[in-house]
Amino acid sequence: MKKIGIICVLLLFAAFGVFAQTEGPMPMKPEMTEIWDPEVPVITPGETPMDAPSDAIVLFDGVDIGREWTNANGQEPEWKVEDGCVTVVRGKGIIKTKRVFEDFQLHIEWRSPAEVKGTSQGRGNSGVFLQERYEVQILDNYNNRTYRNGQAASVYKQQAPLVNACKPPGEWQTYDIVYTAPRFNDDGTYFTPPKVTVLHNGVLVQNNYSVRGPTEYIGIPEYNIKKHGPGSIILQDHGDAVSFRNIWIREL
Ligand code: MG
Repeated sequence: MKKIGIICVLLLFAAFGVFAQTEGPMPMKPEMTEIWDPEVPVITPGETPMDAPSDAIVLFDGVDIGREWTNANGQEPEWKVEDGCVTVVRGKGIIKTKRVFEDFQLHIEWRSPAEVKGTSQGRGNSGVFLQERYEVQILDNYNNRTYRNGQAASVYKQQAPLVNACKPPGEWQTYDIVYTAPRFNDDGTYFTPPKVTVLHNGVLVQNNYSVRGPTEYIGIPEYNIKKHGPGSIILQDHGDAVSFRNIWIREL
């Protein structure tokens, strides 16, 4: 009996030995999980987080608005360029980028008028439309209540910002927007909806929000929308003299 037991143990060891040689995992080495190519592109970051990095497209440099932007009719924008910024001129309509974009990181600085006029949506209202359809609201919400899903840095009428990071009117503010364009099914419905992350003055206020559909002033945004391709960045003329400067974008 003892002999049989010893033989069994020996057989077991032998079987394990064979198994270890033929079926066991290869011993790993550190370099087996190192990925070297292609090399990650080297860029130079700006002096401050607000400055355009070397791989950005500068959409507005404070001087020439006509290089990258047109009005709604494709003509030179009639907004006022002065003192390194461009300001909405009431009634002159939206401005839009000549280039069209899909996935991107956008930096934009804006300033609502120092002279406070109006309340709620009537104070320092503009907006950044992503792919011409999805508005990140610009509004002076410094001591100015409005509906939460329509205040500054909201995805307009869809998602309130996590916090109100507004600076006082007349001060420059920043939006850093990371946008992933929607992907579509063949029938035009979203395969994946647009996703948007917004930092307002460096503070996270939209965290990879799934946009429900194109911005609607009236009614519910549609999940099932018409398939669309790349689109411009649009800045809204809502009648208030909102200014912009230092606009740059990095295509992803
Ligand atoms: Mg607006």
